[in-house]
Amino acid sequence: IMFDNLTDRLSQSIKKIRGQANLTEDNIKDILRDIRVALLEADVALPVVKSFIDDVKQRALGREVLTSVKPAQMMVKVVQEELERVLGKETSGINFNAQPPVVILMAGLQGAGKTTTSGKLAKYLTERQQKKVMMVSADVYRPAAIEQLQTVGEQVGVSVHPSSVIDNPVTIGKSAVDAAKKGFFDVLIVDTAGRLAVDESMMQEIKALQDSLNPTETLFVVDAMTGQDAANTAKAFADVLDLTGVVLTKVDGDARGGAALSVKTITGKPIKFQGVGEKMDALEPFHPDRIASSILGMGDVLSLVEEAERKIDKKKAEKFAKKVQKGNKFTLEDFQEQLLQMQNMGGMSSMLDKLPGMGQLPDAVKDQASDKHTNRMLAVINSMTVKEKRYPQLIKGSRKRRIANGSGTSIQDVSKLLKQYNQMQKMMRKFKGKGMMKMMQKLGG
Ligand code: GDP
Repeated sequence: IMFDNLTDRLSQSIKKIRGQANLTEDNIKDILRDIRVALLEADVALPVVKSFIDDVKQRALGREVLTSVKPAQMMVKVVQEELERVLGKETSGINFNAQPPVVILMAGLQGAGKTTTSGKLAKYLTERQQKKVMMVSADVYRPAAIEQLQTVGEQVGVSVHPSSVIDNPVTIGKSAVDAAKKGFFDVLIVDTAGRLAVDESMMQEIKALQDSLNPTETLFVVDAMTGQDAANTAKAFADVLDLTGVVLTKVDGDARGGAALSVKTITGKPIKFQGVGEKMDALEPFHPDRIASSILGMGDVLSLVEEAERKIDKKKAEKFAKKVQKGNKFTLEDFQEQLLQMQNMGGMSSMLDKLPGMGQLPDAVKDQASDKHTNRMLAVINSMTVKEKRYPQLIKGSRKRRIANGSGTSIQDVSKLLKQYNQMQKMMRKFKGKGMMKMMQKLGG
């Protein structure tokens, strides 16, 4: 997860001022230094770090400390507010308040992920927003780039307007707009040439393209892994072009998240999407408010719930909820179902990763929740007969041995599973008609 380190550091330093009465210049000095180091480690650009720290300090000192609130909590609030101010709170998508075709111009350095993102965005808008999308490549320097967009277009099933290296980008762009109008397309995505480093003639060329096409969106595509450099590139592009938003790519790599903060501060434009992989469906809306809260160790809980809602088999969840509500017996078959659902959701460890404070969890606990453990439990259950699953009390000595042999586990593993099942059963009885029910229904409905 982005900003992991920052989260850890912040919670460490905030602990230090726990128990003190007030936020003073003195006791926030340490914490400000910690935040500074954490931001630099997260690859946030230096000038951005400086202004962030200054703002946090102003906010903290100007804050009237309510007696009911501890200074440490206040500091958390202050940092979160500043993050929200910088990153923004709202999730913003593509602006469709324009005459179709809505033209989206993709800008950025070579290798940032423009062509890949064009394809992902085309797929996203087609599938999630039911738009009719066309793409065109205005990269007249690399025939390979034109071919790459063609390939991407075929992959996502989106038309690509033909272009050729003997034309100039403006001519290509205009001809694509005409074609998009004639074909009643809602969206035209214009992929552009990128250089390895910012250069003047490339900037002038894309500026000319922007002037002639007057796009609704000009998205700056930037590689999150470039860290400190992202800030410089962003500045160069924002100085020349009227940007409307940012796409942060390669967030799935070991990027430390700093680019998000730098690029947003420098361009002042919202990060609209993030790329999380090389595949065509690896594009997600960027939720700045969630970043702000995950930074503060609250975890990416909202994303987790959303993911759970998407992946949980609703019918089964509903059936299960009803069953618990009626107070029916919770059998090993039900337990098996639950484990399978969990596996479906990417396994326990991926869920745990997203929960708050999991960085501090001892390894032994993490191990308990590991997917290996889940797989072992499933193997054990799979070796039982239907009767055994429904009447687990039958499982004694010789049956235990048979199940252990059949599942390639040990008798201890079988006993452990039965113990966990018993605990789960007790829990289910407690939850009957209570909070858990509401949760299950929510997930199910
Ligand atoms: P362009 O030169 O800006 O058009 O960049 P490309 O679209 O050709 O992308 C350059 C490389 O980055 C390719 O190998 C892509 O597969 C890869 N890439 C793009 N976006 C992502 C992403 O979100 N995650 C990962 N892991 N790779 C990406």
